[in-house]
Amino acid sequence: MTQATAHKWVYLFEEGNAQMRDLLGGKGAGLAEMTRVGLPVPPGFTITTEACVEYYRRGRQFPEGLWEQVLAALRTVEAKTGKRFGDPNNPLLVSVRSGAKFSMPGMMDTVLNLGLNDEVLTGLIRLTGNPRFAYDAYRRFIQMFGRIVLGIDARKFDEVFEAKKRERGVEKDTDLTADDLADVVLKFKELVRQETGRDFPQDPYEQLRLAIQAVFESWNNPRAIAYREFYKIPHDLGTAVNVQTMVFGNMGEDSGSGVAFTRNPATGEKELYGEYLPNAQGEDVVAGIRTPLKIAELKERFPEIYRQLEEIARRLELHYKDVQDIEFTVERGRLYMLQTRAAQRTAQAAVKIAVDLALEGIISREEAIQRVKPAQVEELLKPRFDPEAKAAAAAEGRLLARGVNASPGAAVGQAVFDADTAAAWGQAGKDVILVRTETNPDDVHGMIAARGVLTARGGATSHAAVVARGLGKPAVVGCEALVIDERSRSFTVNGVVVKEGDYISIDGTTGEVFLGSIPTVEQSFAEQTELRTLLEWADGFRRLGVWANADYPRDAAKAVEFGAEGIGLTRTEHMFFETERLPFVHEMILYAREATALERELQRARAAFESAEPARKAEAEAEYRKVEERYRQSEAVRRYYGALAELEKFQVEDFKGLFRVMGHRPVVIRLLDPPLHEFLPRYEDLLVEVTEMRARGVRDEGLAEKERLLELVESMREFNPMLGLRGCRLGILFPAIYEMQVRAIFRAVCDLKAEGLDPHPEIMIPLVGHINELAVVREQLERVARQVMAEKGQQVSYKFGTMIEVPRAALTADQIARYAEFFSFGTNDLTQMVFGMSRDDAEAKFLFYYVEQGILPANPFQTLDADGVGRLMEMGFKLGRETRPDLEVGICGEHGGDPESIFLCHRIGLNYVSASPYRIPVARLAAAQAALAEATAAAAQRYA
Ligand code: ADP
Ligand code: MG
Ligand code: MG
Repeated sequence: MTQATAHKWVYLFEEGNAQMRDLLGGKGAGLAEMTRVGLPVPPGFTITTEACVEYYRRGRQFPEGLWEQVLAALRTVEAKTGKRFGDPNNPLLVSVRSGAKFSMPGMMDTVLNLGLNDEVLTGLIRLTGNPRFAYDAYRRFIQMFGRIVLGIDARKFDEVFEAKKRERGVEKDTDLTADDLADVVLKFKELVRQETGRDFPQDPYEQLRLAIQAVFESWNNPRAIAYREFYKIPHDLGTAVNVQTMVFGNMGEDSGSGVAFTRNPATGEKELYGEYLPNAQGEDVVAGIRTPLKIAELKERFPEIYRQLEEIARRLELHYKDVQDIEFTVERGRLYMLQTRAAQRTAQAAVKIAVDLALEGIISREEAIQRVKPAQVEELLKPRFDPEAKAAAAAEGRLLARGVNASPGAAVGQAVFDADTAAAWGQAGKDVILVRTETNPDDVHGMIAARGVLTARGGATSHAAVVARGLGKPAVVGCEALVIDERSRSFTVNGVVVKEGDYISIDGTTGEVFLGSIPTVEQSFAEQTELRTLLEWADGFRRLGVWANADYPRDAAKAVEFGAEGIGLTRTEHMFFETERLPFVHEMILYAREATALERELQRARAAFESAEPARKAEAEAEYRKVEERYRQSEAVRRYYGALAELEKFQVEDFKGLFRVMGHRPVVIRLLDPPLHEFLPRYEDLLVEVTEMRARGVRDEGLAEKERLLELVESMREFNPMLGLRGCRLGILFPAIYEMQVRAIFRAVCDLKAEGLDPHPEIMIPLVGHINELAVVREQLERVARQVMAEKGQQVSYKFGTMIEVPRAALTADQIARYAEFFSFGTNDLTQMVFGMSRDDAEAKFLFYYVEQGILPANPFQTLDADGVGRLMEMGFKLGRETRPDLEVGICGEHGGDPESIFLCHRIGLNYVSASPYRIPVARLAAAQAALAEATAAAAQRYA
């Protein structure tokens, strides 16, 4: 093979840059970039990820030309440093560091001080005049190489080392003398001989070759594979290997090692944050052998080093336009950079940093918006444990254990140990935490009823974790310290016994488990200045409106505080459920049938009379008067309309409350939707009651009433209530109910207009499937609206529209739009009907198994199913707009607050998404991100 065609496996740091992460790995790309911009990086080179892939392809053989290129690169490094690999007179020592594209714990650790051997050691002693340093470097090298490359159990080295300290009667590593360390080196070499059957490799080139090979091999060790499985990192990326000139932080008091963040990663505060250990090599900082100095102390004690560090941190931030997490070493007063990467940060820090960087002019507002994950905004608004109460609980020793933080949030409840008990207690209104060794599909009904889930086994992808995240419930899993005894319904942890019914608190964000209940606190939105700034910026970029689902004025007020621009869904059924109204609701239901039938009879009789030929007029009139008399005397009519009149009064006040909060913003009110029997006692309960009353021989009004109710409930039973008499079907069969609601809306609006307010109601008809349904209802309701407006002498601007939640409505949206001024996709029902699965049954029985098995990519009730439901929405949207170009289209299903679904809604072109108040901030951010992503994609197209 000629030079020209040889594949390039090795890049000197100065040959790479930040964009080459795929090839050089994250660490290699960072070192290259820092070198390129002139920061002090010890010289070195990177063996590419391709070389690793090729190594496996060739059956674990170095690719052709790799070793030659390593040697050539080593020559260049030697030239730069003026040192030589393996030369006792001026030795070059290197570190060998793994580094994949994505940072991956579980892969090979770093070997430091490679290139040392007995001969080089003497040279190093001569050169530094510091035998202690030299022996320490050598013993560290043998120890690391022995463990990492030769696979010798680390504890065997530790035993030797600890024995030496005991023998010398010292506490700290640094108290051992050069002679002590020389003896440790001898013993380490002896250990290697015993363990491997051969001498510790003295040839530096062999050391290097073995170390490179060990890095390649570590790509496929079980821990690394498991990590990739979890984070869905492809297995065929391979890892890069970095070989870098050693710098020594352990050369005395003017040397040291540290790690730092260019800003505080917990709060986002603009300050250097980190630790520094004088006279130490890098790994000592992490190992916690001595207590390092805080960076603030570094400033006091070593101001010159601090100054260099601050300067470099500033340059790095400006260069990367983000907060960096750096590793550095100081050798005899000179600062060297060993690593840089974008810093991990808390949700709070993420928001503050993004806003601050934009305010400092380092990034644009668009970038700031894209830097924050929607989930982080959600986290900032979720209730969490009161930090003081939590600290106090920990101080009292109530922190029982820590497990895997599988699903975020704070949950408090009574411990229960099986799903049935969880479901029963949950139904009885108790807060429970389901505690299981591990969960399986039979436990899901208990998980649904629980506040949170705690398991002793399983990791972040266990059944418990997957289901809890799918349900949005806090979960701590794999809490190994828990010993659960299902028979005695208790668990033991570190000697504490927790029995069924005892309160526990779990923090799914941190993985902590506490005894007793810890109060939770709401996080204030008003006080989160940076978050509010970020969202105000977001508002400037989004195209989607963000409305709220709110049934009560207090929810509406919360929504407005969070930035809602309207109400996309007010469900009026909640209003019917309030205790003081239920008696009227019962009356309404009890007499609806009879009264409505009579009403219809009356109408028919009147029509017959009015259209009768003169010869039959008298007869028709007599018939009409008879019916009219029956109508007038009817108990059912009296009670039905009486109840509706009472309910109307309540409804007027309900709507006024909402309109007052919302001012001029649109308020979409959905007329009554659920089947009527939901407002009545359960058939089974009534039957028991009636049977008991009969058995006791009760024979009074009470029994008659109950019997009547039982009969009614029985007559209303449906095989499938979800697909039965509900929504507009109910409104069509019993028109007076919807008429009452519309009258209440218009009365409320007119009254408020008289007060000088300007409400904008939008009346929404649920569950329309055929255009005629909407036509009938609209005709009837607009008549009521006109009546009220005439009565009150007011003109109200309102919209009339429908939910699109039955597939047929989406399919015939062009027709529907003739009678609808707006659509709102009710994606909860739409998803149920498109999939043909009832949500409750699906989630309790098979849905999470589907998700676990990858049969479905996600829970479609959480994230819109783009290919099915999404396609239907797109179709409905287009058809609707064809008929009515200014048709207002929104979404009011729970998906309206889900970031991924919001992206889809943006793409389809909806006017707004409507979400529960607490998800308004997330929706504002996600909507802006969707718009910005689209702009970026469009720009890419233009310049392609
Ligand atoms: P990790 O990915 O686990 O952080 P690193 O390769 O970054 O592993 O190295 C582990 C430690 O060794 C770090 O503290 C690092 O700064 C230090 N280190 C790595 N290479 C060198 C070097 N050439 N000179 C001095 N210290 C080094
Ligand atoms: Mg590192
Ligand atoms: Mg619905």
